Amino acid sequence: MHGHPHSHGHHHHAEEEGRAIAVAFWLNFIFTIIEFVGGLMVNSVAILSDAVHDLGDTLAIGMGWALGKTSQRKADSKYSYGYQRLSVLAAVINALVLIVGSIFIISEAVPRLWAPEMPDATGMLWLAVLGVVVNGLGAWRLLRQSSMNASMIRWHLLEDVLGWLAVLVVSLVLMVWDVPILDPILSIGFTLFILFNVARNLWASLKVFLQAVPADVDVQALVAQLCEPRQVGGVHHVHVWSLDGEHHVFSAHVELQGAPPVEEVLALKQHFRQLVMDYGFAHSTIEFEWPEESCRHGEEGLAP
Ligand SMILES: [Zn+2]
Ligand SMILES: [Zn+2]
Ligand SMILES: [Zn+2]
Repeated sequence: MHGHPHSHGHHHHAEEEGRAIAVAFWLNFIFTIIEFVGGLMVNSVAILSDAVHDLGDTLAIGMGWALGKTSQRKADSKYSYGYQRLSVLAAVINALVLIVGSIFIISEAVPRLWAPEMPDATGMLWLAVLGVVVNGLGAWRLLRQSSMNASMIRWHLLEDVLGWLAVLVVSLVLMVWDVPILDPILSIGFTLFILFNVARNLWASLKVFLQAVPADVDVQALVAQLCEPRQVGGVHHVHVWSLDGEHHVFSAHVELQGAPPVEEVLALKQHFRQLVMDYGFAHSTIEFEWPEESCRHGEEGLAP
């Protein structure tokens, strides 16, 4: 059995999406540069930590854009599963860049807790207004779309807007009161938030690389379902892993009992085909073993 239940969209739709990604990339890229330069000019580590966050966004969008075509490429004789795992590699690279950037920001911000430097509050305010407008517009544009991915991006953009609102409030406070320590405090808060998300994403990516069972698959339940038909005496070599966190691969050896006739085995295959479709596996292999056959790999693991 081998199936590809995921359709990959209409050509025109893909083109439109490509253009939207290009616009998002250039907006983020330009804005990241403005933030780094602006953050240095107004002497605010809070803005610099936001710049690191947006550098991560830019990289994520950019790599998604660059890898988009490649990772959609069909499997070939060199990469028999295709190129979808490139997206996991991209996520790990992105995480490493964000970790390096965060260490840099922390090393800048922590000494300022003891020796605070006053940022240019007016410049900070203008950058914050720009940040709220740019990120708010992005979130507002996505409000009209309803796909799962768009809603995740929307949440992300909302976080970005909230971050800039915090910078805006701090800059207003700094215009009135002389409390420069707020800048490094905000910066360290942002950076810890960035690192928390990085750790979460990195862990998810590493689990994909380590071929962990995907969180949305209950292997014990799957084994129980495989064993349900009366012609099945047992299963072994049950393996479930994920190519990229979305497209899963499944294989199993099924032991037949009582030498069922061919029609019953065919019906059994049909039954399993439905099961595999219900789980949405992108690749699946099921081996039938007859009662007198011995397993070529030796039996292992995951009894029902
Ligand atoms: Zn962001
Ligand atoms: Zn095995
Ligand atoms: Zn076997």
